[in-house]
Amino acid sequence: MLFKNVRLILPDRIQPAGALRVRDGCIAQISAPGETLAAEPGEAVLDANGKFLAPGFVDMHIHGALRRDSMEASPEAFSQICKFHASGGTTALALTTVSAPQSEIVAVLKAAGSIDPNATGGARIVGIHIEGPYFSKEKPGAHLPDLLRHPNPAEYSEWLQYRDRITQVTLAPELPGALACIEALCAAGIRVSGGHSDAWDEDAAAGFAHGMRQATHTFNCMSGARRRGPYRVAGLLEFAMGEPEMLCELIADGHHVSPTLMRALYRAKGPDGIALVTDAGGGAGLAVGESFMVGCIKAVVHDGISLTEDGSALACSVARMNELVRTMVEKVDVPLQEAVGMASLNPAKALGLDHTLGSLQSGLKADLVLLNDDLGVEMTFLEGQRVF
Ligand SMILES: [Zn+2]
Repeated sequence: MLFKNVRLILPDRIQPAGALRVRDGCIAQISAPGETLAAEPGEAVLDANGKFLAPGFVDMHIHGALRRDSMEASPEAFSQICKFHASGGTTALALTTVSAPQSEIVAVLKAAGSIDPNATGGARIVGIHIEGPYFSKEKPGAHLPDLLRHPNPAEYSEWLQYRDRITQVTLAPELPGALACIEALCAAGIRVSGGHSDAWDEDAAAGFAHGMRQATHTFNCMSGARRRGPYRVAGLLEFAMGEPEMLCELIADGHHVSPTLMRALYRAKGPDGIALVTDAGGGAGLAVGESFMVGCIKAVVHDGISLTEDGSALACSVARMNELVRTMVEKVDVPLQEAVGMASLNPAKALGLDHTLGSLQSGLKADLVLLNDDLGVEMTFLEGQRVF
């Protein structure tokens, strides 16, 4: 298949009037600047009339959509979530758990083994992101405080039986036992992200020294600079902003974090230090006023966001990834190719997948998204097959 007359969103630039050839599910050829690729005999041609062609988006943090949730631990729910998020240009995602009893978390890990991760009918599943339960009770967000607990080796060693299915674990590095947990997870090849944390500077630094390399939904449910006696010291937020090796997740739905804060993060981290995540929950795709569950907490959809029923906390997002890219361009003044990189190449690198997906490059999987001028998704392709 040949895509012609596309604006190619490459990692470092946008190439106008480009063409891209897909063969056997992979990107086979990309036109050089000014070059036109002629269709081969029998080859399907898609003339995109100047639309953008970007790498499919990689979302490391998705709970659900359409009232379906990863915690259902059912291949059918997983498939519905993956199909929905393909409509936002996402072609690879990590299904994300919430704080829950151990048996429910393990059920999700088991269920992930009973679905072909590359044949969901939508985005591929790259693994499970275990978010909680090792969180600070000071920063529960939409997690039920009663379910939060300290790292327990008996629990997390059971997770390690499914290590190949786990992309990352979010935990609070200041909790008793957290550093040993971080070490055990990192040794098993699992990425550790700090989040729902009330860490002081030195707690964050200790987590980093033991292998923590990411911050979960930066700014949200995270300690910031505060006073200790007369002195002002950093929290996890400033540690993550100041440490180049920390990748910062950002829910750029325009509601979770204000444009000024997002701009500050962009100035601190640069284009390579941010990974856009939707943190979408079961409210994604529902109408305003409809309710859904986040674990055992009831949440309601409002205009562009979802809140816990009492309105006291944000409960996941209702966003799709193309909307986050749009927010970064329109409200944070980030160049489009950089915003796309934050939604594709940066998370792909973090998950060690950039040798197979995450950018427009010959030899990589043809996971692609066709975007219009307003960054609305026109079509999404997984290995060259249209899934939206
Ligand atoms: Zn969270």
